[in-house]
Amino acid sequence: MAKIKEKFDNVFELDLGDGIKRIGTKSLVPNKRVYGEKLVNVKNTEYRVWNPNKSKLGASIINGLKEMPIKKGSKVLYLGASAGTTPSHVADVAEDSPVYAVEFAPRIMREFIESCEGRKNLFPILGDANKPEEYANIVEKVDVIFEDVAQPNQAEILIKNAKWFLKKGGYGMISIKARSVDVTENPRVIFEAQKEIMEQNGFKIVDAINIEPFEKDHMLFVGIWNG
Ligand code: SAM
Repeated sequence: MAKIKEKFDNVFELDLGDGIKRIGTKSLVPNKRVYGEKLVNVKNTEYRVWNPNKSKLGASIINGLKEMPIKKGSKVLYLGASAGTTPSHVADVAEDSPVYAVEFAPRIMREFIESCEGRKNLFPILGDANKPEEYANIVEKVDVIFEDVAQPNQAEILIKNAKWFLKKGGYGMISIKARSVDVTENPRVIFEAQKEIMEQNGFKIVDAINIEPFEKDHMLFVGIWNG
């Protein structure tokens, strides 16, 4: 029988007895897989195993994220939803609170809409994260913005969205992909530069996680918004 321990609010450590460190979320839509993830039933509750190879937030938790800003009841704006792998876990964690998830590629959006089926708190938005004004009539003030867009101006996108939607004292979480900023530069220099942009524009960085070996040259920064 699997052993379950709550690591953060609504994020669980799953011990399946094989020595592999796994995390998971309680499934809001039982019996439904979003990306082929393993489902585990313990005492009439279904958990979805959160694969760190497919989710940078999952990888950050495995790699020692100190505090998880997304909790039960958090309102979240998620930038770069793709087909919904990480957004589906974020929606499980937020539970009955809205997760607004922006994606700009129409083809991927169609897949994402399928993952949202049955998830009453996950709202897909077809939009460009560079233009928050275009979805300002849909998104309310949020507690956390999570960004994973793999664009050259990653930190600027977070700041633009924070100015529109992030509550003062709320959290910005951003996965920085060094190669999207500059393929020729040393990743460490890029991480420092992106961090500095955040610090000079209203964020106090409280955590920084290198997510190797799950993703090469990626860092996740967590900042508190004072802007
Ligand atoms: N966060 C997803 C997950 O963990 O399941 C994976 C995200 S994938 C690395 C990056 C996604 O961001 C792609 O689907 C891409 O189309 C989207 N994207 C890139 N630039 C964007 C923008 N300006 N606005 C909205 N989405 C964007």
